[in-house]
Amino acid sequence: MQHTPMDQDAPGADEFVDETVTAEGEGDEIRVTDIVFDCPHCGHNLAIDYRGAGLQINCVACGEPVLVPIPDGMKIDDLDLSSGELLTQLFQTRRLLLKNEQHIAELEETLNSVKTRRTELEKSRMVTLHRCAEVVNLCQTVLKLQNETVLTVNRMIALIAEEQQR
Ligand SMILES: [Zn+2]
Repeated sequence: MQHTPMDQDAPGADEFVDETVTAEGEGDEIRVTDIVFDCPHCGHNLAIDYRGAGLQINCVACGEPVLVPIPDGMKIDDLDLSSGELLTQLFQTRRLLLKNEQHIAELEETLNSVKTRRTELEKSRMVTLHRCAEVVNLCQTVLKLQNETVLTVNRMIALIAEEQQR
């Protein structure tokens, strides 16, 4: 990755561009406030000071003119703010982004647990249905046995009656 630092006190857009173009090779560290993106022409990874947002620079790798993207939530008007104010805004935006990402992760977790619970409930319902069918079968068996018992007892009574009449 190539870092293209800018003069911290540079006030004008022209200076940003000049600094960016001529600063090639100076330092490799990417600051948290840098805008990091890939050159649309050659794909070279570029890290530009946040104050370069929306400006046209020349890619340090292929030399083609490249428009520095403006990060989400950053307004060009913000560039008129002091770097301290801007940093505060940037960090607030990042914190918000992080919070939103965490919230999304939480929602996905909830969704997954709801899906799991639903599957469990469906399984448990199937088990209940099977058990109900089993209990109905048992009841029918009891009724059948009762009928047979009644028939058998009646036959026994008839046999006894026959014996008594002899
Ligand atoms: Zn390039």
